[in-house]
Amino acid sequence: MTVLGALSSLARPAPATPRDRPVLRERGQREVFCGLTGIVWLHRKIQDAFFLVVGSRTCAHLIQSAAGVMVFAEPRFATAIMEERDLAGLADTNEELDRVVDQLLARRPDIRMLFLVGSCPSEVIKLDLSRAAQRLSTRYAPALRVINYSGSGIETTFTQGEDACLAALVPEAPQAPANAPPSLLVVGTLPDIVEDQFRRLFSALGIASVDFFPPRRSGEIAPIGPNTRFLLAQPFLGDTAQRLASRGAKRLPAVFPFGAEGSTAWFKAAADAWGIADDHFQRVIAPPRDRARRALERYRTALQGKSVFFFPDSQMEPSLARFLARELGMRPIEVGTPYLNKDLVARELEQIPEAVISEGQDVDRQLERCRAARPDLVVCGLGLANPLEAEGMTTKWSIELVFSPVHGFDQAGDLAALFARPLARRDLLRV
Ligand code: SF4
Repeated sequence: MTVLGALSSLARPAPATPRDRPVLRERGQREVFCGLTGIVWLHRKIQDAFFLVVGSRTCAHLIQSAAGVMVFAEPRFATAIMEERDLAGLADTNEELDRVVDQLLARRPDIRMLFLVGSCPSEVIKLDLSRAAQRLSTRYAPALRVINYSGSGIETTFTQGEDACLAALVPEAPQAPANAPPSLLVVGTLPDIVEDQFRRLFSALGIASVDFFPPRRSGEIAPIGPNTRFLLAQPFLGDTAQRLASRGAKRLPAVFPFGAEGSTAWFKAAADAWGIADDHFQRVIAPPRDRARRALERYRTALQGKSVFFFPDSQMEPSLARFLARELGMRPIEVGTPYLNKDLVARELEQIPEAVISEGQDVDRQLERCRAARPDLVVCGLGLANPLEAEGMTTKWSIELVFSPVHGFDQAGDLAALFARPLARRDLLRV
């Protein structure tokens, strides 16, 4: 275990830049879900895609229980379960995989994109899913594209599943010519309703060419090139951002679109890149921003002055801490995140007041800090929530913040409600 930095050093005045901000780094036992979890929201988004996990019964159970009720006539994910013969090297796993894919496609000829999703077991036996994807792509082209990525839980956290999936999708985008007009790409899986709201606002601002990544259908991936500007909708998409940059696309740095302020700054980054006059920007943004402020006001009394402690889980922690501190007056005590990409969250860090920023986890030490701080609210993974509740603390499951529509002006009130609800429940139970 390595602990770099010291808590005492973190109480100093705010540093000059986010890069100078001390970070408590820990490596030890972690309590997080694996990247397979991302399938739960990805399969709803890309409607003609299918996610085939190559894993164990444990992986199948995780996906089935996390995805809950299947609302589609036909499922969009499944697990090719590796049996003991596969794991012991007694069977030709590639042949088995081809057979499973044949069966799947015979039954589901409507699938246009197949993701082969690696897991801990497939990585442990070093099953080369990239070669399998190439082989199957050749066999089924042009009707089907086969792509692979890893959802394994070895040294990763659950939101990295989406990052790995989207990074694997970047090479599928057509090349935009160097003289193509500027276009905006919004990167990160968003509910359709949020996408529609964003599209309307970009259009009202005067940004007509807007695409979303991932798209709703696999054949609708927008061309990418040097005139592509992209806005990340989620702070955990570092690998995807790098892949986009390697295709010539340029990231528009911004805080993430959580809350009235966050959403305003996010849209402003695009408006500035498009040279949109500030008075026009203010005219377009004022109505939804005021609506969002009014929605937040309803929760301010419940949340103002309350302390909050984030355990590392979703990688959204710095963005959410900024939102809670700036827009609802909460007091972050510790903002833990599995990985801290200072490039992506620099503007969030600038706006988080005197909290400990920690990266990685040594769960026992962090629990000790949390117990000592006795925060009003703990944001953590499912595995820690029940034990902490049993100790009398009030918790919020961080995974819910990824599953729920929380981006943009019209969801600002819902996002605040997710934090206010556990506190209201605690007050009711006390009466
Ligand atoms: S990928 Fe690994 S961590 Fe995730 S369910 Fe399968 S075995 Fe467990």
